Amino acid sequence: MIIISSTSTTLPQQSSTEYDLVITNGRVVDGTGNPWFRASIGIKDGKIVKVGHIDPSTAKQVIDAQNQIVAPGFIDVHTHVEDIFGNPTAENFVRMGVTSLITGNCGGSATEIGEFLGRFKEKPLAVNLATLIAHGSVRAKVMGLDDRAPTAEEQQKMNALVEQGMKDGAVGLSTGLIYVPGTYAKTDEVIELAKVAARYGGTYASHIRNEEAHVVEAINEAINIGEQAKMPVEISHFKISAKSLWGKSPMTIGLVKAARDRGLTVTVDQYAYTASSTSLDSRMPSWVLAGGRAEGRKRLADPSTRTKVFDEMKQELKERGFKDYSYAYVASYRANPEFNGKNIAEITQQVRGKKKVDEQIEQILEMYDKGGASMVYRSMSEGDVQNIMREPFTMIASDSGVREFGAGVPHPRGYGNNARVLGHYVRDLKVVTLEDAIRKMTSLPAQTFNLRDRGQIREGFAADIVIFDETKITDKATFEQPHQYAEGFSSVLVNGKLVFDGTKMTGLMPGVALRRITD
Ligand SMILES: [Zn+2]
Repeated sequence: MIIISSTSTTLPQQSSTEYDLVITNGRVVDGTGNPWFRASIGIKDGKIVKVGHIDPSTAKQVIDAQNQIVAPGFIDVHTHVEDIFGNPTAENFVRMGVTSLITGNCGGSATEIGEFLGRFKEKPLAVNLATLIAHGSVRAKVMGLDDRAPTAEEQQKMNALVEQGMKDGAVGLSTGLIYVPGTYAKTDEVIELAKVAARYGGTYASHIRNEEAHVVEAINEAINIGEQAKMPVEISHFKISAKSLWGKSPMTIGLVKAARDRGLTVTVDQYAYTASSTSLDSRMPSWVLAGGRAEGRKRLADPSTRTKVFDEMKQELKERGFKDYSYAYVASYRANPEFNGKNIAEITQQVRGKKKVDEQIEQILEMYDKGGASMVYRSMSEGDVQNIMREPFTMIASDSGVREFGAGVPHPRGYGNNARVLGHYVRDLKVVTLEDAIRKMTSLPAQTFNLRDRGQIREGFAADIVIFDETKITDKATFEQPHQYAEGFSSVLVNGKLVFDGTKMTGLMPGVALRRITD
């Protein structure tokens, strides 16, 4: 619990107060990675105006941090919150300390960035929001879901959309080269678009083409795009999702280090779990999915095509070192919510009375036919997750959307990611220090996306601040019961305003649009 006291009534005149708010008695972890220090923080007009010794009587309001950690609000660089204006409190994020979101990842964003960020005017948010302009959305707008290269004219149209998005404030270009339609793009198409975004100082953020048996080629492709376009690269949810390559993270990390040694800015982000979350469709060959579900159904009606799909899916399993789909859990299946929380092997046994791989593939194709499902894939190794977390260029990001409390069985990262790092990986396992973990959630994300006045407790910076008890911080959300808020945060401030008071959202909406800085 946090004690908030108001001092203004005891002062002779309101005008004599210097600060809107002062936070006292905290141990400040400033976001740079430096060890904590004791200081008070003075806030005025949404900004941090003093860090040091402050007489609390000069403040209209005082928060006594009671010896807890006071840190910059966390910046989650990898989110999917295109629908946030319909759910403006973003409570799942705020209650794990997140005060700024970067959306538009994995190739999917609004295509009218000016209009998207302009929605703040009529619909304020509790958190700050930046966005990328996404290749997949731009491509779908120009070429639909076609599995082919763009014509010169189509490439020009895509370039123009990316250029407009950057002019309207996008912080970079994202791709999702595993997804339809991004997966139909060859590298040169992406390089063209990356060059456009690079002219405006953008970062290239990529859900790379493969995170499984072909992860090395996919990392190299992302780095190549950055080198050709001369722009920073940020590899999304860096992982190894193939059992056959478990333990090889030193090698994949080595590719990033080698690119950095050549002079390219490369960073990665990571969520702190050994399971991923994406669509069921992504288990199928991308050529089957071209043109949308109706086209896919037509293709699958042909027996010889079906045989080819079975062969390719079995080949993929084999390359990844999985014997079947028992690693694949349904998060949300609209056609039959009873499947939620069960894996494909279990569902197949239940529906078909047997669960050989052929039957499991049959089951997946049937679920695709009935609209598809969102999935949780338990496909990573703990050792690789920890290796990746230790690297100085790794940021912590959730890859989550705004959660509707109680709906479906989504990946727990949307409720627990930052708390899990601070509780499980920092306090319990000591994989990284508290100060370094906070750096990965604050100043490194701000540096990567050029958010110059965020991510540090520093005079002149925006007063996005979290206060928490590092001995109590816990991620409660599990794969079985994900709808549980993180615990341990006693205050979350956005632009100097308290949005979470330790027990509930305050209802204040002080978030702002974070547009690419143009000067
Ligand atoms: Zn992704």
